Amino acid sequence: MSNGSQEIIVVGGGPGGYVAAIRAAQLGGKVTLIEKSKLGGTCLNVGCIPTKVLLHSADLLAEAQHANEFGINVSVNGFDWKKVLKKKDGVSSQLVNGINGLMKANKIKVINGTAEFISSKTLSIKKADGTQETLSGGKIILATGSVPAIPPIPGVKDNEHCIDSTGALSLTEVPKSLVVIGGGVIGVEFASIYSQFGTKVTIIEALPKLLPLMEGELTAQLRAKLEKNGIDIYTEAKVQSVESSSVGAKVNVEYKGEVINFEAEKVLVAVGRRANTESLKLEKANIGNDRGRIQVNERMETNVKNIYAIGDCLGQVMLAHVASVQGEIAAENAMGLDAFYNGKTVPSCVYTNPEFAGVGLTEEKAKEEEIEYVTGNFPLMANGKALIMNGGEGMVKVIVGKEYKEVLGVHILGPRATDIIAECALAIGMEATIEDLIETIHAHPTLTEAVREAALATEKRAIHAFNK
Ligand code: NAD
Repeated sequence: MSNGSQEIIVVGGGPGGYVAAIRAAQLGGKVTLIEKSKLGGTCLNVGCIPTKVLLHSADLLAEAQHANEFGINVSVNGFDWKKVLKKKDGVSSQLVNGINGLMKANKIKVINGTAEFISSKTLSIKKADGTQETLSGGKIILATGSVPAIPPIPGVKDNEHCIDSTGALSLTEVPKSLVVIGGGVIGVEFASIYSQFGTKVTIIEALPKLLPLMEGELTAQLRAKLEKNGIDIYTEAKVQSVESSSVGAKVNVEYKGEVINFEAEKVLVAVGRRANTESLKLEKANIGNDRGRIQVNERMETNVKNIYAIGDCLGQVMLAHVASVQGEIAAENAMGLDAFYNGKTVPSCVYTNPEFAGVGLTEEKAKEEEIEYVTGNFPLMANGKALIMNGGEGMVKVIVGKEYKEVLGVHILGPRATDIIAECALAIGMEATIEDLIETIHAHPTLTEAVREAALATEKRAIHAFNK
């Protein structure tokens, strides 16, 4: 049973916090949300949404440049960067206003201020208007998110040409050249965006491959595609230092036993994010944490009774959709229900051109865990819709258990991969077998047919590709 008179205090108004606040209000809680900046957090203001607007503009430009192939006479007259930025800000504001409206509709009190613990039951709020307020007695859900990690590379911190992802979203001009330190999600997304706007992009990644946690076979294909688009990629490359240069900055890199350097107008530092918990003063409430990363159980409870934590501030899987689900779970538990987080259906999505998405085990992980498996690959060249949309670049790869044929993982490189992956997450969540995917009739012509064909390929019976 839920507890209708329960007071709930949510700290942080991103996709974790605002969702937690709404869910608690739905269950009858008296909810206060504290946010120091704008509602919507990183995702809506300086993360997922604005990045996707830039990507959409870049994709439109690329489509317009190739429209002649489809018989459409378009002469592309470059782009207006100010308008691109205006569109980005407009979409973010519209969504943030929507969240403000949802707060009002759900009777959630929003306080614009910064919260810190003064004990395990009391928060002190320094409000934006200069006043101060103390809140006690409620259950507390911490959802303070993450901030870009600045690596201890000499010369990075003080160089005005070194930017983080927030800076990369508000450059007043498209740089002629950009070095990206870190070939993770943020690195490849911005590399993809800016190279489409004409920037000469170089990615420097310390590990042997881009997107180290994604399926290797598809990562290699994405790398080839990015290189074909003119991006230079150096893996197993270690950035030693950054210094000023007449162009902007010079990045010194140890690569294959030599030191080489790259000059660029801007250097995007994208080597990860860290939990944003310093201002909370966790120690005053004795909340268990590992270097600022709050520790929780699967009910999203911290070690302190009545205090929950969710999303990026846990320092684990830093994804908006994970934060939102964890927010619902924390709110339900705080309101007296019994909910558990299970991450096995979390899709990983990379918004490059083409898109890249995966759920469940990669082949590398299956090997590492000594699981007996078979794979099925289907090239998008043989899928009519993909051929129309992007020339058929990409692939679907399905990984299934050898004995019971249960779906263990699905990985997609290609148009709309990030949408198609939902079907695959459902399959994994429902412990579907390959027969379940095959028996489901997929509409023609769609990209989803490639998932069924890859499932067929695990039994060497794909129809539109030769089964080796
Ligand atoms: P990341 O962990 O995805 O990638 C960082 C990369 O930098 C890694 O590949 C790492 O090996 C490399 N690296 C670290 N130190 C380096 C060095 N000194 N020199 C060269 N390479 C170095 O981190 P990110 O890309 O900064 O993203 C941060 C978080 O934000 C991630 O958790 C990510 O999942 C999340 N995010 C997700 C999306 C999405 O889901 N589409 C988009 C943006 C960000």
